Amino acid sequence: MVDCIFCKIIRAEVPCAKLFEDDSVLGFLDINPINPGHTLVVPKTHYSTLFEISQKDLFACLTASQKIAVAVLKATKSSGINLVQNNYREAGQLIEHVHFHLIPRFAGDKFLKSWSGQPCPQPQLRKVLEEIKAELASSES
Ligand code: AMP
Ligand code: ZN
Repeated sequence: MVDCIFCKIIRAEVPCAKLFEDDSVLGFLDINPINPGHTLVVPKTHYSTLFEISQKDLFACLTASQKIAVAVLKATKSSGINLVQNNYREAGQLIEHVHFHLIPRFAGDKFLKSWSGQPCPQPQLRKVLEEIKAELASSES
């Protein structure tokens, strides 16, 4: 993709703070980190979202994420890591090249503090359960 910023980074037309590279994946520091060590893991092939990425590249990204997360955790001496992946604008996706955030977490850092679930009435749970199961069943047939 000519105009995609992450494709430009992959082609080395735009600089990045590179942490990891193999045949199919690149890992580099986020330019606006939530915490120091915030890393992005991207497939070298352009896909917009989780819904387009091939299983092979998805596996490669997650395997690389696991490896990089261990290094980020140790190097930043953080007490946790969030693996975050946003799809579409409503979910906070700004860059339309699928990517995985590795976000080191520290006690009291406030990130995701507002992401709190609410108890859900049983009929509502049952309804969404059945709707998703029906979609899963139709995707298998
Ligand atoms: P998202 O909101 O999930 O699409 O996240 C996009 C992320 O890409 C943001 O956290 C940005 O700070 C980061 N970002 C955008 N441009 C660059 C860049 N040139 N180098 C590194 N990170 C970037
Ligand atoms: Zn791209």
